[in-house]
Amino acid sequence: MATALITGASQGIGACIAKRLAKDGFNIAINHFPSDSDKANAEKVAEECRSFGVEVEIFSANVSIYSDCELMVKSVKDRFGSIDALVNNAGITKDGLLARMKEEDYDRVIAVNQKSVFNMMKLVGSIMMKQRSGAVVSMASVVGMYGNAGQFNYSASKGAVISMTKTFAKEFASRGVRANAVAPGFVRTPMTDALTEEQQKAMLNLIAMKRYAEPDEIASVVSFLVSKDASYVTGQVIEVSGGISM
Ligand code: NAP
Repeated sequence: MATALITGASQGIGACIAKRLAKDGFNIAINHFPSDSDKANAEKVAEECRSFGVEVEIFSANVSIYSDCELMVKSVKDRFGSIDALVNNAGITKDGLLARMKEEDYDRVIAVNQKSVFNMMKLVGSIMMKQRSGAVVSMASVVGMYGNAGQFNYSASKGAVISMTKTFAKEFASRGVRANAVAPGFVRTPMTDALTEEQQKAMLNLIAMKRYAEPDEIASVVSFLVSKDASYVTGQVIEVSGGISM
């Protein structure tokens, strides 16, 4: 049975992706940030995934740290025998206008959102290359394509996720390994609940469909991209934004 590893899967979009891929029949490796509350949440997600009759294991790792990723990827491979789908979902925001942005907030967002993708693509890419199969989906954002005032660090990290996806796709295509990015607009999750009412209203104004996405509307696109139905799709960015750009 194929195995999917999803980073930052203890809540929000990542939890929803884990459940969707379990429903699709993947064994699931749930990654969570090493904290007690994330572990407790991950256990709940694991229980829901198991209800689809697949095998599920939880792996604690800070994906911004290479050695943590190395240990996790080895453990997932040892436990399941293969890694067929990787979803780089873990991400954070530390918003602020550039003029007021602290260096540590820039560095932290780049480490979690961008360096983690290097770590995971390098480690899992090597396994997929040997398998001669695999699919990677990374969570970008519309702000990585168009920029957003107040999100200098976050937009930089998501722009990098897009270029890393295209480069990975070019380097790995001949080995049967695909990579794509999903660029959501505004999804209802704990991350966006933290935005001010003013920021939420401004976002809504940009959306043609005049509503935010539900996490399962992102998970369904990830499900397609890691499936055989997307066997000829690589190096693409799929915007899932209710029509922010057209
Ligand atoms: P979320 O609810 O905050 O979930 C993100 C998850 O990643 C959390 O469980 C978080 O754990 C985990 N995480 C953070 N740093 C980590 C690390 N170093 N190692 C391992 N796990 C870590 O966010 P979300 O809204 O579901 O977003 C998921 C992804 O979609 C992110 O990459 C985000 O940038 C992207 N996205 C979201 C939206 C949106 O509107 N929500 C739009 C575009 C793109 P903690 O809770 O402990 O931090």
